[in-house]
Amino acid sequence: MPSPQPTPDDLFTCLRCGDCCRGYGGTFVSRADMEAIAAFIHADPRTFAAHYCRRSGGKSVLAQRADGYCIFWDRVCTIHPVKPRMCRRWPFIESILVDPANWLAMAGSCPGMRTGIPLREVRACVATVLASEGPDEDR
Ligand code: SF4
Ligand code: SF4
Repeated sequence: MPSPQPTPDDLFTCLRCGDCCRGYGGTFVSRADMEAIAAFIHADPRTFAAHYCRRSGGKSVLAQRADGYCIFWDRVCTIHPVKPRMCRRWPFIESILVDPANWLAMAGSCPGMRTGIPLREVRACVATVLASEGPDEDR
């Protein structure tokens, strides 16, 4: 009998270390993310991107401080209720469906992600999570 598919809790527990809020190519933000964050911090949505974002690979990402941390990191995520979709979904993101080996690459920087589980099972779990969340609201 095949083993049951792992659950999200089997694959990931956030340790709140903040490592994912530093470095990388930046945290992608959609227009919807920017509008939500601007409202949350009472910033002018027309100038939000100029003050809090930068461009990377043709996309808007959250700006980082000189120490490499996200501009909204201060020992905790200061915009937690409206943090970008990419942060909310981590590590159950589309790139795992494209190539499940991305799970291992991401786990190298995120101590909350479990390895040692067959990647086809990881991919199936990620697919289930994404399907349960409905259509992508990015725009
Ligand atoms: S690196 Fe992983 S474990 Fe650490 S805060 Fe980010 S998601 Fe959580
Ligand atoms: S928005 Fe919050 S969770 Fe996302 S990278 Fe910035 S500080 Fe971390």
